[in-house]
Amino acid sequence: MQELSKRTKSFTDSIIRRMTRVSLDYGAINLSQGFPDFEPPKEILDRLKEAADTGPHQYSITWGAPNFREALAKKQSHFMGMDIDPETEIVTTCGSTEAMMTAMMTVANPGDKVIIFSPFYENYGADTILCDALPIYVPLYPPEFNFKIEELEAAFKQSPKALVLCNPSNPCGKVFSEDELKIIAKFAKKYDTYIITDEVYEHIVYKPFKHTYIASLPGMFERTLSCSSLSKTYSITGWRLGYIIASKEIIEVARKVHDFLTVGAAAPLQEAVIAGLKFPDSYYEELLDTYTKKKDLFLNGLKELGIAHTTPQAAYYVLLDISEYGYSDDLEFCMDLAKKVGVGAVPGSSFFNEPVNHLIRLHFAKKDDTLKEALERLADMHILRR
Ligand code: GLN
Repeated sequence: MQELSKRTKSFTDSIIRRMTRVSLDYGAINLSQGFPDFEPPKEILDRLKEAADTGPHQYSITWGAPNFREALAKKQSHFMGMDIDPETEIVTTCGSTEAMMTAMMTVANPGDKVIIFSPFYENYGADTILCDALPIYVPLYPPEFNFKIEELEAAFKQSPKALVLCNPSNPCGKVFSEDELKIIAKFAKKYDTYIITDEVYEHIVYKPFKHTYIASLPGMFERTLSCSSLSKTYSITGWRLGYIIASKEIIEVARKVHDFLTVGAAAPLQEAVIAGLKFPDSYYEELLDTYTKKKDLFLNGLKELGIAHTTPQAAYYVLLDISEYGYSDDLEFCMDLAKKVGVGAVPGSSFFNEPVNHLIRLHFAKKDDTLKEALERLADMHILRR
């Protein structure tokens, strides 16, 4: 038998998603892969039940059902502060995972360089490899996870085709400030680089921090592929609904890539979630309030247990420092944590280009009772000490 493709050899399956399977195997509370254990809004579920009877059950238009794109354009125009044309500036995708992959394939030729901040959400590494592109990693330095301007410019000087901007950032919970975004925008224009965003946590930004869409900065819409998803905003991660918003010229190409990758996102789910896209601003305020309370509950719990951790400005992840446990391998620590303590976590090394193995990532997108139970279990984390 001939060897299978070379490009698949340089990456593994997703460790985040592997840790969900590990959590299931050990009956651990799964705080690894970030998704809620509470229900989506009732209005969306009611529409889903109706859609089961009325349809649509056949393909939608490949780049998204017209009424879905219309509702999405209205919502995003409102939040991004710009006029998005549902006819020409949106492609609906199967989650932001497909949006990012499609965006990368739209922009990059084999051999092109792509800037990625480290730590980074692990899909970006695989996305570049699958496009035969070459990542240039630029470190973000804790505790604020800021970049060094000279390191960023050195990366831009290598003529990258694109920069991936996860804002708000997973896993470090960083919100890029407007000043930081202006620096990135200035370099993107100077070195003629596209920006591919991942903004799935756009509505989970803790006060006083504020999300700025880089596409909304002057002269940036035409070089930005704004990728996001409905997963986190409406607690429907399993529905796999995402999108790219960009200029007509970019979207024309992205639609071709999307057309042949997946044909389209699930039609009845697009129909049902329109109810959510039409929610008033109060929905997003309540969502933030819910997550702010969960963050406080979980972080206070960790503090009481004396476990060192990061404080996110956004999203629902926290990095725990496991330096004092005597493990040289954070994956091994996470396996033991799932097996012996009963909590699922993601090894930090899967997010860093640098050799970092003293961090693990937990998330708090869970019911309060689940979080309390997880904290009770984490009280036993000391048994892992070597
Ligand atoms: N963004 C989520 C996380 O980091 C997972 C998303 C996914 O697995 N598609 O855990």
